[in-house]
Amino acid sequence: MEEFDCVVIGAGVIGLAIASDLASQGRSTLVLERHNSFGQETSSRNSEVIHGGMYYPAGSLKASLCIEGRRLLYDFCIDNGISYKKTGKIIVAAALEEIASLENLFKLGLSNGAEGLRLITKEEIKAFEPQVCGMAALYSPETGIIDSHSFMSCLAALAQERGAMLVYNSEFLRARKEKGGYKLSVRNGAEELNLRARIVINSAGLDADSVARNAGFDLEKYRYSIHYCKGQYFRLNSAKARLLKMLVYPVPEPASGGLGVHATVDMAGGVRLGPDDEYLKLRIQDYSVNPLSRLKFYASARKFIPFISEADLSADTAGIRPKLQEQGGGFRDFVISDETDKGFPGFINLIGIESPGLTASLAIARMVKNMTA
Ligand SMILES: Cc1cc2nc3c(=O)[nH]c(=O)nc-3n(C[C@H](O)[C@H](O)[C@H](O)COP(=O)(O)OP(=O)(O)OC[C@H]3O[C@@H](n4cnc5c(N)ncnc54)[C@H](O)[C@@H]3O)c2cc1C
Repeated sequence: MEEFDCVVIGAGVIGLAIASDLASQGRSTLVLERHNSFGQETSSRNSEVIHGGMYYPAGSLKASLCIEGRRLLYDFCIDNGISYKKTGKIIVAAALEEIASLENLFKLGLSNGAEGLRLITKEEIKAFEPQVCGMAALYSPETGIIDSHSFMSCLAALAQERGAMLVYNSEFLRARKEKGGYKLSVRNGAEELNLRARIVINSAGLDADSVARNAGFDLEKYRYSIHYCKGQYFRLNSAKARLLKMLVYPVPEPASGGLGVHATVDMAGGVRLGPDDEYLKLRIQDYSVNPLSRLKFYASARKFIPFISEADLSADTAGIRPKLQEQGGGFRDFVISDETDKGFPGFINLIGIESPGLTASLAIARMVKNMTA
């Protein structure tokens, strides 16, 4: 039976970043991925925004890892020639009643350590984005966008150069604790194979809870069950897309599962609106976009980008958030947990790695590396 120091389950951006860091320490590292390539699920179905870090409760992992991860990510992009743009972002209060929430977001961002935040006036909004309307806005100069595919491709190449093995079409089935580590069963095509690992890292995204359960964790006891929350996107036609150069967000509604339908520019200069948020009743990866949602997107977005008409929008892609927070429930932080005290030494669970997971990926990898040291 093959033996590895570390086995990472899942080749999304998180698993790749972790594998690249672990392999850099000379550890024998294997990444198991059920698809035929990396990044086929949430990591390639997101807004590709490098977040500033102002949304998350002070002291949370989401806040601290977002800010640390953003700094690491910009440096990584420069060092490795990954395309990115520090576009800046404005969160726009469309009505006077939203200004108090904007001020709270500003205070939260400052306490989280998000750099350069500034409340701006109606006139300053026009100076940044002449076509955007609002009563006031929160400006975040450090927010940007990244070519996430190139980022993952670079992480995969780095991991392999450093000696990690990335094995595709290989699905983790179950793990059993043994002396000094774990025995893992893996489906590879029609075959079922076994291997041994001293350290197991569960970065299986939308199925991180199933992976934990199949390793023996009681999901109810540890509150590890994931809820699927879908986010759809609509694309703005190219003539209207040219009118925006920054990221433009509404003030988030407290009960929402996301940040509110926003306008995101991409590396090619296109603009997408979204994602919306809908908790799915069935746990299936349904990425279809309902064309009937177009009116809802138009109605939300025209409050701050009034130059659009409904006909400018066409259905684009969708992603699914792996949420620990139940619908209508309170805030849940990332779970990034060395499970030794639960009786699973050397097992690290990463569960509920929704936004800002892409931004935080390098900081998460650093945290996991420190846990395994
Ligand atoms: C709509 C949306 C918008 C977002 N926008 C942003 C944003 O703008 N900025 C930002 O910072 N973050 C954003 N995020 C969050 C970000 O995309 C995620 O946090 C990040 O991609 C999570 O990466 P991951 O590697 O944990 O998960 P994934 O990319 O889902 O990777 C997990 C991998 O595990 C594999 N896997 C699962 N089970 C098994 C198994 N049993 N055996 C083998 N392999 C398995 C899967 O196939 C998958 O490849 C967004 C998320 C969504 C849904």
